[in-house]
Amino acid sequence: MPATKFVCPKTKENIEICQCLEQCTADRRCLFLPTLRSVADSLDRKLEKPTVTELISGTRETFLKKTTEYAVDPMRQLYAIHGSAVHAINENHTEGNMLSEERLADNITSGKFDLYGEIVDINDKTLGDYKITSSYKLMKALGFYKVDVPTGEVYKTGMKKGQPKTRKEWRDDGVRHVLEWAIQLNYYRILLEQCGFTVNNMVIQAMCRDYSLRIAAERNIRKPVYLIPIRRISDRWIKLYMGTKARRLKEALDKKIQPRICNTRERWHDRKCAEYCDVAENCPYGRLVKHNRADAA
Ligand code: SF4
Ligand code: SF4
Repeated sequence: MPATKFVCPKTKENIEICQCLEQCTADRRCLFLPTLRSVADSLDRKLEKPTVTELISGTRETFLKKTTEYAVDPMRQLYAIHGSAVHAINENHTEGNMLSEERLADNITSGKFDLYGEIVDINDKTLGDYKITSSYKLMKALGFYKVDVPTGEVYKTGMKKGQPKTRKEWRDDGVRHVLEWAIQLNYYRILLEQCGFTVNNMVIQAMCRDYSLRIAAERNIRKPVYLIPIRRISDRWIKLYMGTKARRLKEALDKKIQPRICNTRERWHDRKCAEYCDVAENCPYGRLVKHNRADAA
């Protein structure tokens, strides 16, 4: 079931999307009408076989999005249409030895890759994906972290007298938190290879949406766009993981029983339940987290 309502940013009430598009019930629209229509289009979800991205999300979240009516704040959905805009900008420039936006499927799932072919180097066979993301996620994906480096001086007074002074320096060899992106690209790779294509490299072109803010510089994000290589994961592991998630989702949909809560990583250690999950109001765990946060505030 697609999202059927907007949480109106002005009245804070839920309003049927079709009613909102027909006639704004607040004093004036919160966004241009074509933008609201585009947001509404981006929400349209089909009930058929789950896609790669649906399987990567928490099983309960995908189950609730497919079976319950829910409301979304149109302002918060703008990132989704930013992503579509980036695809549209590149779409008319894919002439040459490359494929783009093809949907492929197997018996587990289906997925539409962004780009494949000579996209980074001539003669390469690269699978590419566009992402628009936050400086925080980019910092984690690039493995950036800070360390204390001695300056060669010591404190001369105070509690730390005699101790060496340090300054913070960035390092870029930390753990790269890209598991979900890696699963997604590796599944597209498997789908391409099943069709007889060779994939030599996988790369994400990640655009930072808050690049111009000071917080991005504080996270060592110095460029608006980064190319992030993605490592190969074994086909066996990927298929086992995605096959298990597809089976759990199918069982839940067939029996109409809500699956167990999304795991800690999928629910971003509860931050998603509290603020970002569109179906949190339809999820008992999501309601509990929101209730507890409201009590603590
Ligand atoms: S256009 Fe915006 S402000 Fe008007 S009803 Fe719809 S969501 Fe509310
Ligand atoms: S509220 Fe949390 S546990 Fe419930 S569906 Fe959303 S992410 Fe999953």
